[in-house]
Amino acid sequence: MTALLPVDDARERLLSLAAQCDEETLAIGNADGRWLARPVRARRSQPPADLSAMDGYAIRFADMPGPWRVIGESAAGRPFGKTVGQKETVRIFTGAQMPEGADTVLVQEDTDSDGAQVRLTGEGPGEPGRHVRALGGDFSKGDAILPAGSFLNSRRIGLMISAGHDDAVVRQRPKLALISTGDELALPGKAVDDPAVIPASNGPALIAQLAHLPVQISDHGIVADDLEALAKVLERARKADIIVTIGGASVGDHDLVQKALRAAGARIDFWRIAMKPGKPLMAGTLGKAVVLGLPGNPASAYVTAKLFLEPLIAKMGGAADPGPAFVPAMLASSLPATGDREEYLRGHWTDGGVSPLDGQQSSLIRALADAELLIRRSAAASEARPGDHIEILGLTS
Ligand code: AMP
Ligand code: MG
Repeated sequence: MTALLPVDDARERLLSLAAQCDEETLAIGNADGRWLARPVRARRSQPPADLSAMDGYAIRFADMPGPWRVIGESAAGRPFGKTVGQKETVRIFTGAQMPEGADTVLVQEDTDSDGAQVRLTGEGPGEPGRHVRALGGDFSKGDAILPAGSFLNSRRIGLMISAGHDDAVVRQRPKLALISTGDELALPGKAVDDPAVIPASNGPALIAQLAHLPVQISDHGIVADDLEALAKVLERARKADIIVTIGGASVGDHDLVQKALRAAGARIDFWRIAMKPGKPLMAGTLGKAVVLGLPGNPASAYVTAKLFLEPLIAKMGGAADPGPAFVPAMLASSLPATGDREEYLRGHWTDGGVSPLDGQQSSLIRALADAELLIRRSAAASEARPGDHIEILGLTS
């Protein structure tokens, strides 16, 4: 009996099997949810000039405390265009370009004006440069603004457009072939009164789980526990970048996935992972495809997909850091000491922090469905108490 493989080691071995997908160039509006294939530099400066941060009057600080003669106006997109001289001022609005010569803005509320003359009524600016957004204060032309491997979300798309870009060079989405296996499985809603039947929930649930990731899934449906049927589906699936099987990963008489993969020419690493749920996990390659065999129990399938498949997709999709990203949280209840496996408890937020839900067996779907987070407990950990800090993984899908 081989020793159980720690989760981090297993993930490292899996990710080492995977190569990044090729690059493609997308219109920036279509690049949401992708990872940058190349570093991005700013093609312009932001702000592109000294701009006013307030409505008021642009002055030379040296002319304080005024009064000033109003010689024109500068509005956003419509600069004044001439120079401000001694004791002169320009009516200015938020976002408008500071006129040549002026260095400071008097806030409108601190002034009194008849249209031709402005005098200070309030405190006024304490130093030169007040209420001015300096040229390049956000970024300057040529600045490195995002490294390769950055995840593009709404805010980074905004940043790239502000930096003058209209497209993004990202990694392509890996193609994933999904195969559910088991003689007992039936399509959603079918044979609900047959006690020999289990609805095949994991496949559609996994597709929903991965919906936020850049991956192209082809669902090969339910395949019987039959070597010939498995051989056929593997033949169709092998052009994918990733082949995911669900169920049949163990070594029981009806667990034929491994056998079928070997017969198809796959190089297989059968792992027993030091984790709960999700001990039986299979990984390997079939041609250029990375194969990941998930266990069939719903909580095991979900947790192993979270800890192994999502990072695999992220690595292939170009992520600098494929995750998973655990964060600290306060524990609201007691947890018993752990054994020789890491534990990933399905949990939720309560007033005092996080707590595990009732029903942690890997076959139980209800606690999985109610879970807002996974609580990670390392192997051989001692009892944990309320107020202790532990690591969690927030669940959004
Ligand atoms: P297996 O890994 O094939 O031994 O399956 C372990 C348990 O998970 C069995 O009770 C199966 O009925 C169940 N199971 C396997 N595949 C699925 C699936 N696609 N959806 C829901 N349950 C499944
Ligand atoms: Mg099975």
